[in-house]
Amino acid sequence: MNRPEPVTRSETSASTDLERSPSPQTWLVVTMVVLSGYLLSLTGCAGTQRSSFPVVVKRTQMQMGTLVTITSVAPDRQTAQAAASAGFQEIHRLEGLLSTWIESSELSRINAAAGKEAVTVSPETMQILRASGKIARLTDGGFNILVGPAVDAWSVLDRQEVPSDATLVELRPLTDLTALYLDEDRRAVRLAKAGMRVDVGGIGKGYAADMAVGAMKKVGASAGVVALSGDIRTFGLLPDGRTFPFGIRHPRREEAVLAYIDLQNEAISTAGDYERYFERDGVRYHHILDPATLQPARDCQSVTVVAPDGVTADGLDTGIFVMGRARGMALIEQMPGVGAVIVDRDGKVWVSSSLRGRVRMNEESVGR
Ligand code: ADP
Ligand code: MG
Repeated sequence: MNRPEPVTRSETSASTDLERSPSPQTWLVVTMVVLSGYLLSLTGCAGTQRSSFPVVVKRTQMQMGTLVTITSVAPDRQTAQAAASAGFQEIHRLEGLLSTWIESSELSRINAAAGKEAVTVSPETMQILRASGKIARLTDGGFNILVGPAVDAWSVLDRQEVPSDATLVELRPLTDLTALYLDEDRRAVRLAKAGMRVDVGGIGKGYAADMAVGAMKKVGASAGVVALSGDIRTFGLLPDGRTFPFGIRHPRREEAVLAYIDLQNEAISTAGDYERYFERDGVRYHHILDPATLQPARDCQSVTVVAPDGVTADGLDTGIFVMGRARGMALIEQMPGVGAVIVDRDGKVWVSSSLRGRVRMNEESVGR
């Protein structure tokens, strides 16, 4: 599992249960209880009466190569289910545009045409490329959607080889962002050099979460959570008026929660060095590369970003992970409505000023 994980507390003993129950299963159990309570009321009145209490539905599917969980809150069960379905459908649609595993996707077509011609794309693909450019500028090139060929050379999940310096030097020109051309008027995209590749792995899930939330609202959901693994977007409030509670994963202690935070109409996203990595001679090699060296970025263990939208949270977590704690936190402090929790290379936890009153450290896991 990936980073910030939903946790929740029971209706009655809020904080005690929250502290005792940091696992995602707790969230599952509570939503199931709410749902079965509603189902009981339905059976009791033969489906003729509507529940006065909003209904919560929670469903999980594999999409975009990851576990996607949608929690949908609506005035009635049918609407809650329809909204969840609409969210999944939207993510499926975006996968068809953005997945580089699907040969016919727009990104695959852009990549196949690298060094040759421009490819006309949908407004969504254009939008995510534009957003990626913005995050790249903000993070001083730390975020770079062209690092794909280098990510492959490291092949952190499969071959687990440390590429030679010569290989990385050879790949450098392929990661040059000035060789990616966006023609806004014609909605055309061109990669100037053969071998270049666009990879939105560092921002795509946040974008998909935003779009899924839009689809759910359209169908009538009053609140909900869209979680693509650890890239999470929330909207509205739980039926009893509470905000959605989350746990931020401890980067070095599996299953342990580092801190808790409640979100309302916000997104949270974590980039960490603990998710996909291998170790060689005591060195950890992971999947977030510093575009300046094409080596795994070294200054952080994890970066969690809270932002008004998913695309900002997901793009920034990766970019700030590369920038490092000091420069990354300085950037966060300049951005209204955005906050971060950074665990630096030594395990020290840094919380941005905007989140200081909101993040509750899990005392059990701090200082260990
Ligand atoms: P995930 O949620 O999949 O762990 P992250 O937001 O942590 O995603 O981003 C990691 C992914 O982003 C990598 O698997 C790779 O595809 C891509 N990536 C790696 N380094 C960078 C970078 N410097 N800029 C943008 N994307 C990157
Ligand atoms: Mg990211």
